[in-house]
Amino acid sequence: MRLVRVAVPVPALDALTYSVPDGVADPPVGARVLVPLGNRIITGCVLDSESSAERRAPSARGDNSQLSSPNLQLQTSNSKLQTSNAGIKPIIEVLDGGPFLPTDVLKLATWVSNYYACGIGDAIAAAMPPWALKGVRSRFRTTRVAALTVQGHDSRDLRLGARQREALDLLAGSPDGMDTAELAERGIGAATLRRLASLGLVRLSRRAVERDPFHRGAMMSAVARTPHTLTAEQADAFEQLRELVARQSFQAVLLHGVTGSGKTELYLRLAEEVRRLGRGVLLLVPEIALTPAVAGLFRAAFGQRVAIQHSGLSDGERHDQWQRIRRGEVDVVVGTRSAVFAPLPSIGLIIVDEEHDGSYKQEESPRYHGRDVAVVRARESAALVVLGSATPAMESFQNAQSGRYTLLSLERRVLDRPMAAVRIVDMREEYAAAGPDVTLSATLTEALAERLERREQAIVLLNRRGFATAVFCRQCAATLECPNCSVTLTVHRAARRARCHYCNYSTGIPKTCAHCAGPYLEQTGFGTERIEADIRERFPAARVARVDRDTVRKRGAIAGVLERFAEGELDVLVGTQMIAKGHDFPRVTLVGVISADVGLGLADFRAGERTFQLLTQVAGRAGRGEIPGEAIVQTLYPHHYSIRHACRQDYQSFFAEELAFRTAMRYPPAVALINVIVKARTEQAAMEDAGALAGALRIGGEPYRVLGPAPAPLSRLKGEHRAQFFIKGTHRTSMKNALVTVLASRPEIRRRTIVDVDPMSVL
Ligand code: ADP
Ligand code: ZN
Repeated sequence: MRLVRVAVPVPALDALTYSVPDGVADPPVGARVLVPLGNRIITGCVLDSESSAERRAPSARGDNSQLSSPNLQLQTSNSKLQTSNAGIKPIIEVLDGGPFLPTDVLKLATWVSNYYACGIGDAIAAAMPPWALKGVRSRFRTTRVAALTVQGHDSRDLRLGARQREALDLLAGSPDGMDTAELAERGIGAATLRRLASLGLVRLSRRAVERDPFHRGAMMSAVARTPHTLTAEQADAFEQLRELVARQSFQAVLLHGVTGSGKTELYLRLAEEVRRLGRGVLLLVPEIALTPAVAGLFRAAFGQRVAIQHSGLSDGERHDQWQRIRRGEVDVVVGTRSAVFAPLPSIGLIIVDEEHDGSYKQEESPRYHGRDVAVVRARESAALVVLGSATPAMESFQNAQSGRYTLLSLERRVLDRPMAAVRIVDMREEYAAAGPDVTLSATLTEALAERLERREQAIVLLNRRGFATAVFCRQCAATLECPNCSVTLTVHRAARRARCHYCNYSTGIPKTCAHCAGPYLEQTGFGTERIEADIRERFPAARVARVDRDTVRKRGAIAGVLERFAEGELDVLVGTQMIAKGHDFPRVTLVGVISADVGLGLADFRAGERTFQLLTQVAGRAGRGEIPGEAIVQTLYPHHYSIRHACRQDYQSFFAEELAFRTAMRYPPAVALINVIVKARTEQAAMEDAGALAGALRIGGEPYRVLGPAPAPLSRLKGEHRAQFFIKGTHRTSMKNALVTVLASRPEIRRRTIVDVDPMSVL
């Protein structure tokens, strides 16, 4: 009996074994197959087959040795085909004649499933384009096309109606045929074409058309690219990068360049270099907001040979772009984290821009970190990986210090532009002087007025959306809470709803307290919607727009707003961290940060790092043009080290102080961390099940520590109770293997368990 192992897109399932019926050829590794599962038929992906396993054995071993990660060994030992044949069902159909996923991508997905301890099906699904596992063979968009047949070309002597003759004349001018929709516009309807087809004069067929995401929202209008003359610092870095990329072997570089130091220019030149070597380039950027601008730049530089892959595209566009990459029609892929799986052949360079950004981490299964997967992919492809940031992640900078990554630094802005001057406003003094309702300090208001007068632009950032963050009853002290989650509802005034930011539950804004029926409801806390309203009220003539997840729900909306801002059609941009990163707006001379400490109060070990990054990045948005910039930071904790170091834009000092804290508290990068969350219907059940797992991990003498369980900070989410515990240690693989073994012995709990390896957030 010939057997194949198949990954199916069902959470927390390992690979399943099926047989290949007689008379059916072995499906290729990476091909999709239809298989029975329970009483369903689903689409899976072939991981390995008996004969292919034998054939590939030597080369597979060779490939593995390139990957120093011990995690692959786990895979090899797991990957033995089931030995007992009882109960094995045959596959129903082979959907692809060759590998749908290229082998290297398949291997990468397998690495992800091992490293992050998730089901192989989840990892494979993450690497697939939309619909690939939905059992549908092709989702290309097609149009109906009419074309002349040979007889049609030779129809001069036939007696035909005027419409029919007109149709033939039109088609005679289009050797490739014409879209029936276009013909209809010219008055030639379906009936005419059908009649001509029945006479054998016209052939009607369907043709695939590509959905092109470049023509709208996905890209800011590309300016023709005039390469800059590199600064001395840039030239120095570029020489080293060029030397590394020419080696065509695995190399990892951390490019630590202050904001405005011209990293993008280096990316473009390096990409050109790699293309000249005949190898592919993958550029990863953080979520949505950045893609349009960067994609535009790369499109301008590389024309048609660029594809984009990100969550802002429609499924159809993503599918078509993926297929273009798979067909080998592009050399450069620009995309967000899932683009790390793009089926780009012979990769020579992977760039992870703003590598510290939290959006590289996927917060659902598979919980992978796009940057870390990028490093693994580069290693497998013998490629150069460049991690770029003005505020590198603690992990990355430590890797640079320990010599695992080569560190390249750009310490100055291009054209000797000064860094923005940063002023701190102590909001405690502001409240004392102007009352507790102040959102814009006098300093910031004054600075905004100056900018508006001088026709310069300003960015105002608050990392919290909505109008008010809570509804509070002054009579009984109750707050308006989500019925499904342990959080308060946020007031969205324009939408007239109070909404949960975790499960999206919403309700009308109440006038009386649901608890005591009192009419004394007060809205407390504030978000971006309120800031926008306050700025409009204070400066009625100013052109203000807001960018956050509420305003950019619609695809393409963000590119529109950013483009208007870039064109100078807006004066003030209010937004969440979406506007903090990456953008290059030369006319912005003021950045205001409201409540810089949002987040510092959170019980998350990365809170200080995140605050430092956000403030440094946002200050980096000011003064990128001719006129020097200024940043005004409002905070209740002016002396917190994150805020102090960010205001001086002093990364090294921040890193040293933060690393001391992480080491003392035994947090990453000093140790490896795994967060385990168990969900259950009651708090007690969640605690008990989490306790059972944690207990089984404490076997005595284990090379790690287990902390907890305790109710998770978000103890209720979407109606489920959650308990969590942590595994800390210096040897990640043994921690994870122990956990995987324990979970395998408790399949019923495993189904309700979230495993987060290297968590970005523990809230
Ligand atoms: P970073 O990504 O490091 O923050 P950018 O790459 O966005 O910085 O560069 C900032 C600005 O400087 C951009 O407008 C870019 O076009 C410009 N720039 C880059 N390199 C040079 C150079 N060598 N000379 C002049 N301008 C440059
Ligand atoms: Zn909720």
